[in-house]
Amino acid sequence: MTFDKLPIGSTVGIIGGGQLGKMMAQSAQRMGFKVIVLDPDEACPCQHVAHDFINAPYDDTDALKQLGERADVVTYEFENISAEQLKALAASYNVPQGYEAITLLQDRLVEKQTLEAAGASIVPYLELKDAQSLDQAVEEIGYPFMVKTRFGGYDGKGQILVQSSDDLDEAKALVEEQDCVAEQYLDLYKEVSLTVTIGNNDQIVYFPLQENEHRNQILFKTIVPSRVDHTENAREQVNKIAQHVHFVGTFTVEFFIDKENQLHVNEIAPRPHNSGHYSIEACDYSQFDTHILAVTGQKLPENIELLKPAVMMNLLGRDLDLLEDEFGDHPEWHVHIYGKTMRKPDRKMGHLTQLTDDVDQTEQTLLKAFEGREKY
Ligand code: ADP
Ligand code: MG
Repeated sequence: MTFDKLPIGSTVGIIGGGQLGKMMAQSAQRMGFKVIVLDPDEACPCQHVAHDFINAPYDDTDALKQLGERADVVTYEFENISAEQLKALAASYNVPQGYEAITLLQDRLVEKQTLEAAGASIVPYLELKDAQSLDQAVEEIGYPFMVKTRFGGYDGKGQILVQSSDDLDEAKALVEEQDCVAEQYLDLYKEVSLTVTIGNNDQIVYFPLQENEHRNQILFKTIVPSRVDHTENAREQVNKIAQHVHFVGTFTVEFFIDKENQLHVNEIAPRPHNSGHYSIEACDYSQFDTHILAVTGQKLPENIELLKPAVMMNLLGRDLDLLEDEFGDHPEWHVHIYGKTMRKPDRKMGHLTQLTDDVDQTEQTLLKAFEGREKY
């Protein structure tokens, strides 16, 4: 697909002003674009870096229209915006990402059906229409399985691990409250993710495969390049998916690797992703740079070069409490603090990236520094 190439000085409109919007804004500004952000939280991280700010709910039609009027291109930092509203916006304004990817990926059930249709490898799942269908999940998938809400989940929110019949009541309560899917729980060997950007004229560029560790279902650390090499396989899966879903800009595919070393697609984030943050320091272009280049219609780099291997650690509230007084002793840590006003133990407050020639050693040193976190 071909779309407008915007001149320097144009305005990028971003729906959502969290850390992803902030880092997008910073890339855009470095390239000479202005930034206007829409977010319901007047103290959101982006508020401090955007040229202009619309303080309104994401589904405020007038506010979205205002964003469309004032920006030369509109993008988004997260997927839980109304597909209907985005469709309406795309009909009148420049929204190169369109609304299709959001429509397909914000619903876990439709996402899984799309992945299946694309021929990607996924784990067995079942739509949970009602509490009775949990019995069907027990029969067809078997214990252990995950129950996940179809809409709005992130960082493990809206998910229950069902290990035995003891957990069924809790799962039933969730299913009665919200539309859900059941999914086989895998005994994981590793998790990896692949961040990709698609730009003007379908130009595609891949970041190096990222090796991820989650704790309590929240990303804990990312190591690049991944020490399990599934790059070819992961790219193959991404290419299959990209033929079924019209992507523009940066997106990330998360994968599970099972104990048989088989790769399965977990989910897709149609936006820059936490596991791609290392690219700010470790690559010649960050995932935010390529996203802005894509949506403003510029040429993408032919390849992304990993300048140095990296370990990225998230800084949740609990980690910040533990480590903030030590930042001065660690010039090797590239620390990013997002500027959220309310600190919570499990809230992503920032991250740090360390570039290294020895990821194993650096991983060990960083793990030691983060050791006190579980005592919270
Ligand atoms: P979110 O939208 O919250 O990122 P995910 O489905 O990616 O939701 O789940 C978060 C994390 O929880 C995963 O990265 C993984 O570590 C764990 N997890 C989720 N589903 C499964 C599963 N079916 N098998 C094993 N681990 C899982
Ligand atoms: Mg995930």
